[in-house]
Amino acid sequence: MRRARWKGTKPKDRALTHHRDLLQQFFGLLIAFGALTLLYAVLGRFWPSVRGQRILRRGFWTDCVYWLWTPIVTRAFVPVAVGLAALPLVLFLGLHYATIRQGHGPLATQPVWLQAIEVFILGDFLGYWQHRLFHSAHLWRYHAVHHSSSELDWLSSVRIHPVNDVGSKLIVSVPLLVLGFNLTPVALYAPFTTFYAIMVHANLSWDLGRFRFVFASPAFHRWHHTKAAEGQDKNFAGALPLWDLIFGTFYMPRRQPTAFGIDDPMPEGFIGQMLAPFRRLTPPSP
Ligand SMILES: [Zn+2]
Repeated sequence: MRRARWKGTKPKDRALTHHRDLLQQFFGLLIAFGALTLLYAVLGRFWPSVRGQRILRRGFWTDCVYWLWTPIVTRAFVPVAVGLAALPLVLFLGLHYATIRQGHGPLATQPVWLQAIEVFILGDFLGYWQHRLFHSAHLWRYHAVHHSSSELDWLSSVRIHPVNDVGSKLIVSVPLLVLGFNLTPVALYAPFTTFYAIMVHANLSWDLGRFRFVFASPAFHRWHHTKAAEGQDKNFAGALPLWDLIFGTFYMPRRQPTAFGIDDPMPEGFIGQMLAPFRRLTPPSP
């Protein structure tokens, strides 16, 4: 599609179009930022988890840099990384990239809406295990960046080290594509998880009532971020707490968690956090 778009255009025109796309993305992100700030400020007035937490809380400006960095820079690498990671499997299975786009095998013969439901359930299962993997001693240094927010709100969801972000996307999307699912539901699943993650990090006391065991809520995920020993290594699921219930990591008391962050030292600034995993050579004590 991209090739067809560039067909017959001069390099200067391409650069201009690229510039315009980037500018549009930038303004789109600013508008989304404003809308989400307003939305969660209003919701937080009615259902706060931590009462009186300011919008300009600790780490706010660092997370603003992530808000622009993650979609513009990190996400540009995700399709490339997925393509490269899938390459040996593509060759081994004798698949063509065009086949991957449409899907292959018995799963791809189902209607796309049904594949989308299966991608959601299976993707969340894979997401549960990638998240547990990033809590292991070797990978924690990358995931520690995400857990370093001591005042948690919706914006904390974007504080993710690129190695963590690209790695988690690979672990989830490559198996789905190799199994034969159509590329569209797999590609749409990634932005869905981003928006869901924004909601579950928000400073809201929502536990979704009778659906508390069915779908992840802010109460569920905020316990995952607590600094308190009682919530350590609990609630890994992205959207379906079922996996935590099955594998014994579910934890959701009726009260709200109050202390967040990690014991390991973490720089406050964006560049310091980018470099932190490479500097910290000794894994944290469990
Ligand atoms: Zn985590």
